[in-house]
Amino acid sequence: MNLLEVKNLNTSFHIGVGTVQAVRGISFHVAQGESLGIVGESGSGKSVTMLSVTGLLPYNAEISSDSITFDGREISGLSKKEMRKLHGSEIGMIFQDPMTSLNPLFTVENQLTEPLKIHRHMDKASAREKALALLRQVDIPNPEARLKQYPHELSGGLRQRVMIAIAIACAPKLIIADEPTTALDVTIQAQILELLQGLKRDSRASIIMITHDMGVIASMCSRILVMYGGTICEQGDVREIFYGARHPYTWGLLNSIPKVHQKRGEKLVPIHGTPPDMLQPPAGCPFAPRCRYCMPVCRAYMPPETALSETHRVACHLMHPKAPKVTRED
Ligand code: SF4
Repeated sequence: MNLLEVKNLNTSFHIGVGTVQAVRGISFHVAQGESLGIVGESGSGKSVTMLSVTGLLPYNAEISSDSITFDGREISGLSKKEMRKLHGSEIGMIFQDPMTSLNPLFTVENQLTEPLKIHRHMDKASAREKALALLRQVDIPNPEARLKQYPHELSGGLRQRVMIAIAIACAPKLIIADEPTTALDVTIQAQILELLQGLKRDSRASIIMITHDMGVIASMCSRILVMYGGTICEQGDVREIFYGARHPYTWGLLNSIPKVHQKRGEKLVPIHGTPPDMLQPPAGCPFAPRCRYCMPVCRAYMPPETALSETHRVACHLMHPKAPKVTRED
């Protein structure tokens, strides 16, 4: 059964010089207990997609959709107050930079016990006990002392662990982690990923992992959405994307991963060019200006989605039976 189902989501931002079309008609779902990875470059629309679903966008955003259902309930028309009830209790969010997500004016105890008091109606003493248990669960040493501290007194890794503790405090059904390791150095990144993997094993929550890092996706997720130019260009399970990707942009992402057996002096393969200007998104395939396989039809028409299996879908004109046959190595 699907926990989250999004149909035809469009999100735009009205800014002084025009309208940025950040997300353009995407549909996807997350099953109960599933870990879904959303991958793409900065500006591909992956974070905006989840902020649209959770209603956390600024006043200049305009969101439309055919429907957004969470746990069988339509949530697209909920008021801000009703959405606030969902956050923290049924949807936990972990953001990229805990320093800007945690409130610098409140102690860890204030911030960790607040959702427990509001959503679980705990009294002060039981909320504190639960907060201590949560800090232990996310492997924070000396939790009694940490409860009294402010965010600026903690290292980046500890702050992210506190953020994770807050996100899981009320045992949410869905955890959304938006680039949870990007602001951390590599050793701390590994520890945080290990912690998230442990949480995934021990809880029945669904996880949406938003990242530009295919390595993070490989270690955490069972299914992947690849986003580009505000659209989903390819989706499939981990095996289909890592071993059978069919979209040139996905090939570019995979080719740019450093290899363990990389030869000395062998260079990484970048995706040349820059993402499209979403103030004036192209009429055709958004990847066309950077795609070495681009055909005239690509610039004129948005490629339709082709289903290659029950889970694997690709939006590329190369899937047309009369298109040239190319492979990732070509
Ligand atoms: Fe490249 Fe055309 Fe496919 Fe877009 S639709 S990825 S431009 S081949």
